[in-house]
Amino acid sequence: MAVKLIVTDIDNTVFDWVTYYVRSFHALLNEVESITGIPYAQLASESRDAFTRHGSIEYPFLIQELPSVDRHYADDFDRMLAEAVDRGRKVFLKTAESLLVPYKGVRETLEEIRRRFPDVPLVALTDAPRYVAMWKLNKLGLLPYFTSVYGLADPRIPTSERNGRVKVDPEILLKHLQQSNFGFKGRIRILPDEYEKPGTRGLKTVLMDHNLDEDPAHRGTVMWVGDNLRKDVGLGERLGVRTAWAKYGVLMDQELYRLLHEFSPVANVHKNASFADGAPDAPQPTYSLEQFADLLKFLI
Ligand SMILES: [Mg+2]
Repeated sequence: MAVKLIVTDIDNTVFDWVTYYVRSFHALLNEVESITGIPYAQLASESRDAFTRHGSIEYPFLIQELPSVDRHYADDFDRMLAEAVDRGRKVFLKTAESLLVPYKGVRETLEEIRRRFPDVPLVALTDAPRYVAMWKLNKLGLLPYFTSVYGLADPRIPTSERNGRVKVDPEILLKHLQQSNFGFKGRIRILPDEYEKPGTRGLKTVLMDHNLDEDPAHRGTVMWVGDNLRKDVGLGERLGVRTAWAKYGVLMDQELYRLLHEFSPVANVHKNASFADGAPDAPQPTYSLEQFADLLKFLI
């Protein structure tokens, strides 16, 4: 059956999210430690709590949400924003610069898909907040290849419990409030938090939007690509679509795993990094990809 819709996960599927995020966030915490003298372990543990509160490990206003940083600066918000927040943010971005790159062959493959299947929609479906997902796709240079992006709600702007003041630099706040679309011409959909994977409602919404949900026979025309066997492949299996497992996205590096564990909400470690899964009840993908470009072999 000819493919009518291609849906792909982003993190650890089109780029190495774990290396990018763990390295950049590790550098950020080191910088905040050196500015404030607050020990790394404490900052990491408070980060975990803040990520849990905000429901995302990629919460972008993290530093100003750390209780020890807040206490360190007492009521001097401006100094906190100018020192810990600004410098931490810059170190994160500087570290990310060389790490926020697509896996080998991803750009060429997406280009080829657009050329060979100009009428087939190419959808990005992610559990990241919509703004964060588009920011990453834009930096990766991949945004223009997609026809739509589906993500979760945008991050909440942090305010002080003491006086209600917004704890973000005005210039950065403005960018967020404008909900920058990075010049994207396609469709953007924000899914409710309870649509998070491995629930099927996110992908089901994508199918419904493309009129491929009604007739189960149509489901075989949908290709769903993701790195997480339990989360991505499993939900595709339940919906009866074709699944391509981005096997190369599996985390092998023990050091990165250890660093991720220090600041990630525990329940999220397996959400944000995928692991080799030899269990007999593990979901079975329709196809396994050694590299993203293998997808072309299975698109007919
Ligand atoms: Mg993923």
